[in-house]
Amino acid sequence: MELRLTPYTERTIEALKRSSPAQDEFYQAVAEVLQSLSPLLDSDPRYRKHRIIERIVEPERQVFFRVAWIDDNGDVQVNKGYRVQFSSALGPVKGGLRFHPSVNGGVIKFLGFEQIFKNALTGLPIGGGKGGANFDPKGKSDNEIMRFCQSFMTELYRHVGDAIDVPAGDIGVGTREIGYLFGQYKRLTGRFDGVITGKGWAWGGSLGRREATGYGCVYFAEEMLRARGESLEGKVCTVSGAGNVAIYTVEQLLKIGAKPITVSDSTGTVHHPAGIDLDTLKYVKEVRREGLEAYVRERTDARFIPLSDYPKGGHAVWHIPCDAAFPSATQNELTLVDAKALVANGCTCVAEGANMPSTPEAVAYFIASKIAYGPGKAANAGGVATSQLEMSQNASMQQWTFDEVIAKLRVIMRNIFETVSSTAEEYGQPGNLVFGANIAGFKKVADAMIDQGVV
Ligand code: NDP
Repeated sequence: MELRLTPYTERTIEALKRSSPAQDEFYQAVAEVLQSLSPLLDSDPRYRKHRIIERIVEPERQVFFRVAWIDDNGDVQVNKGYRVQFSSALGPVKGGLRFHPSVNGGVIKFLGFEQIFKNALTGLPIGGGKGGANFDPKGKSDNEIMRFCQSFMTELYRHVGDAIDVPAGDIGVGTREIGYLFGQYKRLTGRFDGVITGKGWAWGGSLGRREATGYGCVYFAEEMLRARGESLEGKVCTVSGAGNVAIYTVEQLLKIGAKPITVSDSTGTVHHPAGIDLDTLKYVKEVRREGLEAYVRERTDARFIPLSDYPKGGHAVWHIPCDAAFPSATQNELTLVDAKALVANGCTCVAEGANMPSTPEAVAYFIASKIAYGPGKAANAGGVATSQLEMSQNASMQQWTFDEVIAKLRVIMRNIFETVSSTAEEYGQPGNLVFGANIAGFKKVADAMIDQGVV
């Protein structure tokens, strides 16, 4: 059975292009989900009757706002802030905040749309949304970051709440930014509650949240390989990105005896054939917040590949031979050129730590090649799942141990794999986890929407 857009879903996307112009990443994410849904829509007429597709592609609510702040020179700076609350069908809206110059309405909506189905797959009671700003934290002082976060929260606090919408981090938003956002929320409302996740452990955070997305992605890859009678032990792995997801993917790969040999950032790629040195990586990116060239100054047996040496239409990291690949930087960072190079060089497993890192052509190539391919909305769901565990701890005024949290994360990732894999099989596409993830996630949300009436 071939994945396709039917005339009905094509009409939906055309209508979206008219009602929400110039949002290419959003159309890409919607098309990817809709093209998996034909067998479900054909087998159960309720979804068409209740116009679930037309409703689910339109956010329940979106807020765009001005974020004015004062830089260290005393000059006024202005950025644009976003919070898109896509769906509360399964629980309070949940999804991260991204601070990056590339942020716009289309990027936030693609992330929020993906988040609906990802959150449904965790099996936990959370809806989906996303937010952020076109603010670049790079090169800003701590005080500038604080003033920006305070201004951002001065608008956002009206729209969030522990039973309404609970943001978290994403690109450019780590514990430091979460701290400034939470501090301002408390100042404005007088409440110390679970309004945001990714908090520091001493002030309401959860142990294991920092590690959760990267560790969870490796657990998911292990599940995919176990189902094929294989494992990651001793396998050479390539990882892109050098932020939260990438660092803890590398950490978990090292723990289980795999060999991660790359990381990358917006300046280039590090190839370290002896295996990435975790301490050096954390020192360069978490302590010094420097570009990756600094890594090869510390580890001279590694080489740095600058962007100018990347292959045409591709990214250097995917052209280094490996057994398993972990895209963990950003959207559309793995093209068809890259996918072909990976498969030709013997890669048999791709698990996405990032959101929508592979282009649609690359995804189609992985599926046709029948390698173990875990799409982001399933493979990186460990982050949001552990954020929900943080919400649970906050609501019951408890703090669990690291081992308790990680044990729950492991079970959640196994359940997600089993759900997407059995759904793919049930609907006639065994092994196609894109298909399984889209149908399983959509069905859960759609059924809840039908139960809750036309809202
Ligand atoms: P971080 O900001 O911690 O790290 C992002 C990394 O990716 C950095 O190394 C950054 O480089 C690199 N990067 C970002 N944009 C680009 C670009 N356009 N070109 C090249 N490199 C780029 O973010 P996270 O690790 O939290 O997020 C990474 C991905 O994982 C995102 O897609 C995010 O949506 C997804 N994700 C994150 C979760 C989480 O819990 N944090 C949960 C689920 C998904 P540099 O350092 O130079 O800026």
